[in-house]
Amino acid sequence: MEHLTSELPWPGWGLDFAELRRGGWRPLAFEEFIVKIHGRCNLACDYCYIYEMADQSWRSKPKAMSRDVFTDACRMIADHAARQALPAVNLVFHGGEPLLVGPLDLDYFARTATEIIAPIATVRLGMQTNGVLIDEDVLRVCARWNVRIGVSLDGGESEHDRHRLDHAGRGSHAKIVAGLQRLRAPEHRRLFSGLLCTIDLANDPLRTYEALTRHRPPAVDFLLPHGNWTTPPPGRTPGSSATPYADWLIEIFDRWYRAPELETRVRLFDNIIDLLLGRTVASETLGLEPIRLAVIETDGSLEQVDELKSAFEGAAGLPVRGDGNPLDEAMWEPAIAARQIGAAALSDTCRACTFQTVCGGGHYVHRYREDTGFRNPSVYCPDLTALITHIEGRLRADIGAALGTAAQ
Ligand code: SF4
Repeated sequence: MEHLTSELPWPGWGLDFAELRRGGWRPLAFEEFIVKIHGRCNLACDYCYIYEMADQSWRSKPKAMSRDVFTDACRMIADHAARQALPAVNLVFHGGEPLLVGPLDLDYFARTATEIIAPIATVRLGMQTNGVLIDEDVLRVCARWNVRIGVSLDGGESEHDRHRLDHAGRGSHAKIVAGLQRLRAPEHRRLFSGLLCTIDLANDPLRTYEALTRHRPPAVDFLLPHGNWTTPPPGRTPGSSATPYADWLIEIFDRWYRAPELETRVRLFDNIIDLLLGRTVASETLGLEPIRLAVIETDGSLEQVDELKSAFEGAAGLPVRGDGNPLDEAMWEPAIAARQIGAAALSDTCRACTFQTVCGGGHYVHRYREDTGFRNPSVYCPDLTALITHIEGRLRADIGAALGTAAQ
């Protein structure tokens, strides 16, 4: 279903933006930029939110970002950083598959970003890739400009190749493992930022975890498959009290938490522990910290977080207003405000929830319902409740035991 601007579900309606501004609310500047340097992919993963879900805007966008568009994007970021006095920004090369640009353009993009932005703010470069095209040329470029590389991998061959096939229907696992081996070589290992694994309930959790840790990643992130109340994720019946995703993750948590030595960081678990202990965590999926991220498409247009494309056609779009710096203007958009106002953006159910500050309503895109927009609990609410409860129980037991020991 395509929404007209005037018909956008919350926050398009229901968010009293004027009242927010009258109350003194001011947005925070963007500090993370997902730059889509290539708009197509050499894989055809069946769960991909860009190509396989509600929004199909990729079809009308350029296949790849031109050098001129990239240069303009860097000037826009540098100008935004200067006006907003940002000390540092993160720029992540993304796609589609970013490595389809080839090492020469990658080198140009990394050099241009460094030359234009670094005089204004520290620029940290990163890339999220499917890993198929990681070769020595790419690694030399990444080493030259200190581009840290995250790789998407869903487990061992049988787990990964269930979904992550190429356009001819062939599995991609073997090629990715070859790329990972190059990345993990001693001279490049510092560039390896971690693995990103999308959960499939059909895969055994411990087998999946062990297959991932075999690559010695500094960090692993587990992603809940994108879905919402209108288009539920696989294995989740909206409203059901079953907790299949929590059950899957708890098996891994217990193995990870009890390991005699830390095998890897698991961002989801680290974040829940930090939030339970009252620390601040900047995360798309948990907590109430403001989201300060913008996406720059292959044509140079600005968008909100990409995963919104799983909700409805046009969900990630941002209107173009005025002729100033588009980032300075986008900060004031209600859709951006809704990601920066913490508990005020939550549903009544979440605001009454014990885990509000830890869960924060879950990932914004998982809250969507066609009739009520984004002001709902996460479609994963029972899983989030069960997982956080489990981790809290482990922490309480350990802290209690430690305090008991200390008192003796
Ligand atoms: S999604 Fe569920 S667990 Fe999370 S804050 Fe809302 S009610 Fe609580």
